[in-house]
Amino acid sequence: MSGYGWDGELLGHEEVRARLPTFRAQSFLFTGPEGVGRRQVARWFAYGLNCQEGFPPCGRCASCRLEPHPDYLEIRPETETKTGRKARRAVIRLEQIVPRAEEDRESLVGWLETRPRFRAKIAVIDGAHHLGESAANALLKLLEEPPGYARLILIAPSRELVLPTLASRTLEVRFGPVDEATLSRFTQDPALLAYAEGAPGRLVAALADPGGLERMRAAVDRLLEALERPAEALEAALEVRAVAEGPFAPWAYWAWRLSEWPPAARAEALEVLAELQEALEAYVSEELAYAWAVLELRRIHAAMRRGTLE
Ligand SMILES: [Zn+2]
Repeated sequence: MSGYGWDGELLGHEEVRARLPTFRAQSFLFTGPEGVGRRQVARWFAYGLNCQEGFPPCGRCASCRLEPHPDYLEIRPETETKTGRKARRAVIRLEQIVPRAEEDRESLVGWLETRPRFRAKIAVIDGAHHLGESAANALLKLLEEPPGYARLILIAPSRELVLPTLASRTLEVRFGPVDEATLSRFTQDPALLAYAEGAPGRLVAALADPGGLERMRAAVDRLLEALERPAEALEAALEVRAVAEGPFAPWAYWAWRLSEWPPAARAEALEVLAELQEALEAYVSEELAYAWAVLELRRIHAAMRRGTLE
């Protein structure tokens, strides 16, 4: 059953999985960092709800053997515009939630109109923080009165990022990091484990693309080593930027590298990284944001070397 996740095995979140089947709620909000396992647990939950033997899903019955499963639907933000150009923001659109006459695609509400083949129909709204306004309103109506056989699972990094009206109609289930002992089955590399930040999905993606990961690490290392040479530092920062556009977010690795710095300097540098991330998410000019971050890191680094920041 590949729907379970990597190699059919679920990693961590034992407590969440013990409690999920006991909840009476129909609508859930799964929160936690990207790659931590929210989708895998959502699939596991869905299979368990329809398994002829209940929880944990047996993997052998008529329902468990179905992949894809007719009673399971995932909705994701779309990043492409209709003309094929890359949209500025990923968004879940209205037609993904309710059927519209001019579209022949399947919508969530349309899919929920028919009864399940087994016991429950489970829909995952992956990226609930990317719901467009009209799509969010349509989903709100569904959350207020879902069919009895429906289970709705919203997935987002945190509750704060989801519209309060939606969040208040769901039961939040928090996903913390998976412990390092579990993750060390994949790798013993401390830098890689730091990069994963307790998210198995990140680790699996990194191990699947060692070249991409190596480029990210080299770019960050080079930047930190070039801080005393302004031109080279900026060039290295732009390299980090280029790498960060791929699947490898450099932040956790960067933070790990800064652990070599004295505490005060490290704290200031981490603040710079957090502000850089915020600026990028707010669509500030990337080049400006990175140039500013390099200036700040250079200032902190110089103070550190003078001994005024310990
Ligand atoms: Zn089963």
